[in-house]
Amino acid sequence: MTAVNSQIVKRQCLIASVSRACRNCGAPGVWQADPVIPELFNPGAVGQDVGAICPRCGAARPEPEQLGEIWSRETHADGSVTINRKGASA
Ligand SMILES: [Zn+2]
Repeated sequence: MTAVNSQIVKRQCLIASVSRACRNCGAPGVWQADPVIPELFNPGAVGQDVGAICPRCGAARPEPEQLGEIWSRETHADGSVTINRKGASA
């Protein structure tokens, strides 16, 4: 069974990036839902990178590491499904 010639009717993918903790103070690199660290409390942006400046100590932070698309799933018109994983051999 081959899906090569079948039209894709649905495509899902997972795109990932890594936001590291501050090298200066150790604060998490993403906004938090919990006000334990008041400077990082931002319920409207939980999980998003805090940006180029640490909100807690003011140190410069590196850009998030972009891992790109690490997984995708394509559903074809004939009902077949193709799953692709970054780095996986075909
Ligand atoms: Zn910091």
